[in-house]
Amino acid sequence: MNSPSSSLRVIVIGGGILGASSALQLARLGARVTLVTEGGLSSEASGRSLAWLNSARFRSAEYHKLRMIGIDRYRTLAARYPAAPWLRFDGGLTWDADDNSNRIAEAFAHEQSIGYDARLLAPEQVAAVTPGVDVRAITRQGAIFNPGEGWVDLPSLIRVLLDEFATLGGEIVTQAGRATVEIKGGRAAGVSTTSGKRFEADAVLVAAGAAVPRMVSDVGVRIPDATPISLLVRSKPLKAGLRAVLNTPRVAVRPTPDGAIVFDAAWSEDEVIRHADGTYEVQESTVQKLAEEASAVLAGNPKIEVDSYGVGPKPVPQDGEPVLGALDAVPGYFVAFTHSGATMGLITGELLAREIVAGEVSPLLAKFRPARFA
Ligand SMILES: Cc1cc2nc3c(=O)[nH]c(=O)nc-3n(C[C@H](O)[C@H](O)[C@H](O)COP(=O)(O)OP(=O)(O)OC[C@H]3O[C@@H](n4cnc5c(N)ncnc54)[C@H](O)[C@@H]3O)c2cc1C
Repeated sequence: MNSPSSSLRVIVIGGGILGASSALQLARLGARVTLVTEGGLSSEASGRSLAWLNSARFRSAEYHKLRMIGIDRYRTLAARYPAAPWLRFDGGLTWDADDNSNRIAEAFAHEQSIGYDARLLAPEQVAAVTPGVDVRAITRQGAIFNPGEGWVDLPSLIRVLLDEFATLGGEIVTQAGRATVEIKGGRAAGVSTTSGKRFEADAVLVAAGAAVPRMVSDVGVRIPDATPISLLVRSKPLKAGLRAVLNTPRVAVRPTPDGAIVFDAAWSEDEVIRHADGTYEVQESTVQKLAEEASAVLAGNPKIEVDSYGVGPKPVPQDGEPVLGALDAVPGYFVAFTHSGATMGLITGELLAREIVAGEVSPLLAKFRPARFA
C-alpha cells in the first residue's frame, strides 16, 4: 500500500479482539504492522467471552456514546457479511431478581430517556417478541427487550480481521512467549519476547488484555485494575430456539454459531479457586449449577450437556471505563485496556490506529485517556 505513513513500523502486542482490530486498522492506514502474541489467537478473554453487543442500563454519557458508535461499526460489518453466523442482531432480553435489587423500571426509564431502543414487556408478552425463553422464569416486574442489541463470536471475527490484515502485508507472530516493550532514549522503540525474538518499532500498542496494568507498571504508569477471574461455559449443540442474548439474575446466555449456547454469571466468579502458582480450578458443581440456571431460563428447560468451559481474567479497569491511547510519559507507547471489549472492539481499533499513525486524538477518547490516573 502506497501511503504517506507506509514507513511507520508498529508492533501490536496481543492476539485478542483489541489487538486484531487495531492491527488491521493500522495496516489499512499504511503502517507496517507486526502483531505479536504470547500463545495462539483468541487465547485469552476474547476466546471465552459472552460478547453481548450492548449499551444497556447505566453508565457515563461519554461511554454510552462510544459504545453506540461501537455497535454502529458492527452494523456496518453485518451489512458486509449478511449471512455470517458469527454476528447476529436479534436483540437482548434483561430481567432482574424479584427483590429490592430490581431496577427494571428505572433502567427502562433511563434507556428511554437517552433514546436507547427498549421495550418493557410483561412476562406473558415475551414469547411473541423473542423465542426460546421460559417466560415462567421472568420476574413480575417484567423484562426489557432491546431490539438493537446482538452478539459476536470473537474468535470468528478475529480470523476475518486478521485475514484482511495478512492481505495488506501485516505479519502475525503467535507463540511468541511474553513480550516486553523496549524503551530507548525514553521512548518505545520495539519489543522483545521470551522466545528470543526482537522487533524494532516506531510505536508499540499494548493490547494485552488483563496484562496491560502490569506491563505499564514497568514504565512507572499506574492503571488501577479490577480484573476478576471469570468463567464461561459452552454447551453441546441443542434445540433451544434462543435468538436474543439473555441477561437474567442468575445467568447470562447467548446462542453460538454452531447451535450451542454459552453462559456465564457473576456469582460463579466467586467460586473459582485461585492457586498460588497462578492457575485456576473450576469446581464441577459450579459448572453444573450454571448449566441448571441456563436450562431454567430456556423454553422447555432442555437438558444442557456441557461441552467445555473457559476460565481466566476478564480485563476490567477499576473505574469501569476504557483506558485507551498514548502514555504521556513514554512517547510511542500506546495502550488498549477495556471492559466490554467485544462491544468496543471495532471502534477502539479504528480510533487508536488514527492516533498512532496520524497523531489524531479523537475527542471521543478524551474521557478515557491513561493520564486520568496520574
Ligand atoms: C466471561 C466473559 C464475558 C464477557 N462478556 C462480554 C460482553 O457480554 N460484552 C462485551 O462487550 N464484552 C464482554 N467481555 C469482555 C471482552 O470479551 C473483553 O473485553 C475482550 O475480549 C478483551 O479483548 P483484549 O484484546 O483486550 O484482550 P484478550 O482477549 O485477553 O487478549 C489479550 C492478548 O494478549 C496476549 N498477551 C497478554 N500478555 C502478553 C505479553 N506480555 N506478550 C504477548 N502477548 C500477551 C494474550 O495472550 C492475548 O492473546 C467478556 C469477557 C469475559 C471473559
